[in-house]
Amino acid sequence: MTGTLAPPRPAAPIAHPGAAAEPLALYVHWPFCAAKCPYCDFNSHVRPAVDAARHGRALLAELEHEAARAGARRPLASIFFGGGTPSLMPPDAVAAVVDRARALFDPAPGLEVTLEANPTSVEAGRLRAFRDAGVNRLSLGVQALDAASLGFLGRNHSAGEAVAALEHARATFPRLSFDLIYARPGQGEAAWREELRRALSLAADHLSLYQLTVEPGTRFATEHARGAFRLPDDEAAAALYAATAEEAARFGLEPYEVSNYARPGAESRHNLAYWRYGDYLGLGAGAHQRLTLDGEILAARRHRAPETWLAAVERDGHARAEEAALTPVDRGREAMLMGLRLTEGVDPARIEARSGLPFDAVVDPAMRDALEEEGYLRWLPDGRLQATVEGRLRLDALLPVLLR
Ligand code: SF4
Repeated sequence: MTGTLAPPRPAAPIAHPGAAAEPLALYVHWPFCAAKCPYCDFNSHVRPAVDAARHGRALLAELEHEAARAGARRPLASIFFGGGTPSLMPPDAVAAVVDRARALFDPAPGLEVTLEANPTSVEAGRLRAFRDAGVNRLSLGVQALDAASLGFLGRNHSAGEAVAALEHARATFPRLSFDLIYARPGQGEAAWREELRRALSLAADHLSLYQLTVEPGTRFATEHARGAFRLPDDEAAAALYAATAEEAARFGLEPYEVSNYARPGAESRHNLAYWRYGDYLGLGAGAHQRLTLDGEILAARRHRAPETWLAAVERDGHARAEEAALTPVDRGREAMLMGLRLTEGVDPARIEARSGLPFDAVVDPAMRDALEEEGYLRWLPDGRLQATVEGRLRLDALLPVLLR
């Protein structure tokens, strides 16, 4: 892989990050789960009782507060209900957020509204109510389709429930994604291909694939430390990853991000906003936010504990625990960290506009050339810089040497 294509340089002066009103993506976090999965380090909590109506009112209050700060009727491209387990939300609380967001912002035609759901029979029974609440894309946390793996992962749905939920979701929503976890202990390539084919034939225009890792503070971390299980080595995990791309391609799904596959046009618009370093509002406990205001990109994080979050919103109208303007260097780094995950790569002009820095002040040109020579980066004919398949598999190692 050699670098023979020169990137076009932007002729115009470097734009300021606040030069144009960025369309917004809206993330809404529901932090509660029925049980804690042993691998999970998300901000998710198990509570004996949740006052869902009160929590829903607080989400609306935080939405009003952030919309007023963001400016009148900003364009809104997507809403994403994540968690936790947002399919445990009352559908009328989902409807209230969608309706209020539509009124406060300028919604894009065909506004994408995604909700994450677990495929238990209880939650699957409420899918129609979520569709009626305005959800038009479902992301189903299938994780695995065999009983032993579901038991190991601590999921409280069966393989049969997952299949039934996929079929029901397919019939209910115009757009459907599902998640699978791979590189499970003892997982063989042939069995993984079979499992993938089964899931892909039942669904779906979008697949998110997560490699099982052992995260500090989880139950798996304790069990792994005492030798209760072993994960596949890097070579075996890479073989499973490569098999995934082949199987997804058979069903017309292409990799558009390190962990995501879609039919053309079915990419998650919401997640693309993160990877293209757009603005997003994050509501709910522990949610993060990036908002361009007065020429600055403000990075905010909310209180993580649901009770602290709720008390802060009821007192102050919002629960931002920290907020700071990012430096130009940080803006450039964040934009590169996110953008190189995408198959489409990054547009240097976009990086310059969002960071306020020349591209070469964000990316070390000597390292860029070296990584290009080694086949980890390449320039695309349209002037974008892309991490190759090999590069995308090694982004954690590559980015620290590439970025200034
Ligand atoms: S359902 Fe999802 S968010 Fe909740 S504990 Fe399991 S993996 Fe974590």
